[in-house]
Amino acid sequence: MGKVGDMAAGCAVLLIDHEDHVRNLAAQILRRRLGCTVDVASSLAEAKALMAARPQDAPYFAAVADLHLPDAAPELIISTLIHAKLVVIGITDQYDKSMRNAMLMRGVADYFTKCNNQIYRYVADQVRQLWLNRGKHALVVDDSAATRNLVKAWLERQQITVHLAGNGSEALDVMSASADPVHIVVTDCHMPGMDGFELVSQLRRKYGREHLAIIGVSSSVDPTQSARFLKQGANDYLNKPFVYEELCARINQNLAMLDIFATLRDQAERDVLTGLHNRRYFYDRVAAKAAQPLVDGRGIVVMMMDIDFFKRINDNFGHPAGDAVLCHVARLLAEHYSDALVARFGGEEFAVILTELPQVAKARAEAFCNALQASTIAHDSHLLACTISIGLCQTPGMPPLSMLSRADALLYEAKNGGRNQVRCSA
Ligand code: GH3
Ligand code: MG
Ligand code: MG
Repeated sequence: MGKVGDMAAGCAVLLIDHEDHVRNLAAQILRRRLGCTVDVASSLAEAKALMAARPQDAPYFAAVADLHLPDAAPELIISTLIHAKLVVIGITDQYDKSMRNAMLMRGVADYFTKCNNQIYRYVADQVRQLWLNRGKHALVVDDSAATRNLVKAWLERQQITVHLAGNGSEALDVMSASADPVHIVVTDCHMPGMDGFELVSQLRRKYGREHLAIIGVSSSVDPTQSARFLKQGANDYLNKPFVYEELCARINQNLAMLDIFATLRDQAERDVLTGLHNRRYFYDRVAAKAAQPLVDGRGIVVMMMDIDFFKRINDNFGHPAGDAVLCHVARLLAEHYSDALVARFGGEEFAVILTELPQVAKARAEAFCNALQASTIAHDSHLLACTISIGLCQTPGMPPLSMLSRADALLYEAKNGGRNQVRCSA
């Protein structure tokens, strides 16, 4: 699921359970699935001591707390943890409605029953989701201030940042004014001014399902309301009144889906070794990049580059050394061309498209050649070095793909001319 690295760096979880075998197993599952610090306590007193010992600038993010401890009642356990600003996940022996109500009233973010030991896998998934939710933004649209504020409070308990709107047109204003992208919209259906159906349809003109999730909400007894929401482009639907657990499950499932889309998109667009964009992404974007309005006398510039005698590095120092050189070239390229679209085309070949003043493009390419030649790459006990040859095309009015072929031909002229040089179309 990616992003576990982020948790390893910044997240710490407090696990409280008085049964040794459950605590040990749960700690093992949480550590393995989250990759973060998981401290354990067997009583509320031990938990308090651990919280007090935590550095002030790195408090526990969440507590996974068995609510049947020998030294405190469930209410005291929850209020102590909430007071210390931890996100609380309650663990109980079995489902009990009055316990469920007491937990939610006191502010637990979620709860699980110990029906089997597998629950700690779901607990771990939930802790991760809550951690990721800190970067998520939701927009709640409802003409009832009471409903708006209740949903806001519930989503904030899930660590989500919430924006509010009283009808469809207000919601559209919030969407365009928000500095942070909104990930999920929860909208009522009947509202004065623009209603929920029209809002969904307007939103879908601008935001695809892979970027924005929408949940329609209605108290109508008409069962076709859900169909209407879904047909306008909503991802999901909730009948009012709904309970906390139902809202949270729908919200988190939809947010998790957006993260999966983003991860897949990133994997499809990037080169695994260097992290640069790949050839597919370059071809997808080259037309858009070339169509950007040109300012200050700049023109479109396309470059093809190929590392010189790269095979020798592999042959003399091994494939991992070759990989280190590729990563080094990629980093330097990204640094020198942060204003450009840069891609690893395959092997030791890179392509760049940018807008630049005609007289500056060549100077920048030569500066890059020189910087690469002057740099070294430490690998194992060796200091490696390499040079690169560049073909640069900046023929005004030429279609971008023809520029790419021309740059490729110029690259071979650079190779034949002795390598470590730039050949230009003009
Ligand atoms: P020239 O100056 O003419 O470009 O010579 P060259 O040796 O750079 O070119 P050649 O095409 O003969 O060799 C490229 C080598 O790049 C061959 C291939 O095994 C190696 N290569 C391709 N992809 C990778 C990679 O991901 N990692 C490593 N280490 N090597 C790679
Ligand atoms: Mg080469
Ligand atoms: Mg090559």
